[in-house]
Amino acid sequence: MRDWLSHRVVSSPDSVALVRSEDGESWTYTGLEHLVSETAGRLVAHGIEAGDRLGVVTPPYVGTVGLIHAAMRIGATFVPLGEGLTERELAERIDSADVSAVVCAESTETAAIAAADRSEPVPVFSVDKPAVDAVAGVHDLDPDPVDPAEWGFSDTLCILFTSGTTGDPKPVPLTVGNVYSSAVASAFRLGVDPDDRWLVSLALHHMGGLAPVYRSVLYGTTLVLREGFDPGGTADDIDTYDVTGVSLVPTMLQQMLDRRGTLADSLRAVLLGGAPAPDELLERCRDYSVPVYPTYGMTESASQVATATPRQTRDRLDTVGRPLFGTDVTIVGDDGDPVDPGETGEVVVDGPTITPGYIDGETGELDRSAFGAHGLHTGDVGRVDESGFLYVLNRLDDRIISGGENVEPGEVVDVLRGFPGVEDAAVVGLDDDVWGERVSALIVVENRRQSDDSGSNEGSETGVLKAGGGALAPLDEADLVAFARERLAGFKIPKTVAYAEELPRTVSGTIDREAVRALLREEGHEPRDGT
Ligand code: ATP
Ligand code: MG
Repeated sequence: MRDWLSHRVVSSPDSVALVRSEDGESWTYTGLEHLVSETAGRLVAHGIEAGDRLGVVTPPYVGTVGLIHAAMRIGATFVPLGEGLTERELAERIDSADVSAVVCAESTETAAIAAADRSEPVPVFSVDKPAVDAVAGVHDLDPDPVDPAEWGFSDTLCILFTSGTTGDPKPVPLTVGNVYSSAVASAFRLGVDPDDRWLVSLALHHMGGLAPVYRSVLYGTTLVLREGFDPGGTADDIDTYDVTGVSLVPTMLQQMLDRRGTLADSLRAVLLGGAPAPDELLERCRDYSVPVYPTYGMTESASQVATATPRQTRDRLDTVGRPLFGTDVTIVGDDGDPVDPGETGEVVVDGPTITPGYIDGETGELDRSAFGAHGLHTGDVGRVDESGFLYVLNRLDDRIISGGENVEPGEVVDVLRGFPGVEDAAVVGLDDDVWGERVSALIVVENRRQSDDSGSNEGSETGVLKAGGGALAPLDEADLVAFARERLAGFKIPKTVAYAEELPRTVSGTIDREAVRALLREEGHEPRDGT
């Protein structure tokens, strides 16, 4: 096939392709075609050709959407390098993904030029700013139209970096087939309406932001682009542009609901992923009729692996649903063999959306060491119930080994959250002379803030509540321990607890486990046993 835009402009030339939320400016598919054709022409004038890897350091603006399609038009692989990186980080990514040239924007020009200026410099230029073109030695650009390149399913459409939660970010090549299959399977699960308007306010260098860009051109629907997230503004955009779908991570949705209470009823799908969604958030969605589709996915699977529908979420709050069409999910034990339904183990995924392998930054070869007999080992721990619903508990790295027994913190968190009065909890292992690691819990008590300081909503300065029983004990620990004992084996019961007003989180909204450990070391105490 040719690039997807050149097919799309033939079948729906007058449909609205893109809306910029900032000012409401919009482009039909014909309008987008003009923008992309010009961008592609300029790339070619700069010497970019089919087979090149085009590193991109631009903000999430319309120009980036143009570059995504222009790269495909000329047959180049789109390699978004990320936002806000240091020169050193950029240079590392330029090397490990082996990019042939870098495109930047006005705001990212300095870093991009510095990062690329090494012993074997990589050419850098801007598609929107002639000053940088001048650096590249190209002045008057008057691009000729470019003949669309031919793509096959196994060609590498883009290379994305993982988020780097468990180590250095890894470059992941995704093929045309991976991204196409993902869009098809997503349509089977979420449905597609010709009048869909999908809002993107996630970064375009992660799959959560990039996937809707590719999907909308495949479907012929409208992409509403917000140039950066802000809770009130994103909620307003949904209203203003009659948005029907939006991709969000849980902390974003939480903040939006905190601001607005609910979201406009034009919405038919809120695709919620990237991290576990707190029960309380899902309950709010249910109470306020927000059509939430909790999803589990990763860079390596070109986004969704499994997605639950709003109806399924009502019955089973913690599930991420059943696998998407074409995707196989196998839960394997430590020996690599599948476990019985309901048992926990590592989540292994296989199917047409899964990357052919990581790029080895040293050799440039495909690294398939994370693949086994059943597919890609994700490093996530989960279980699939008798009805085929997937539950993701935590990362393999977060597993606690206490007295030689495996404890999945996610399982303990689920039980603690079920105790009346517990709003949220984080469970980690603390070093222990006897047990190796000791299961430890940091607990957030419901409505603690309001009841604690009679009317004022200010949090305490440290964010940590005094613990240790007596008048300040935030809940009945003896009852909590008894409750946990009914549901968990003895070695899974937290041996240290502390309380906080909220869980410490990283910028991306995931729980900052190191900070949780530090709080527990400082404030933790042994809970009184209720038995
Ligand atoms: P790295 O692979 O570099 O350590 P990363 O895994 O955080 O980073 P991404 O590909 O952006 O990089 O994130 C995918 C991961 O996010 C999944 O493997 C999983 O751990 C987590 N995740 C995504 N959705 C969910 C979800 N619904 N529930 C729990 N975890 C989720
Ligand atoms: Mg990962």
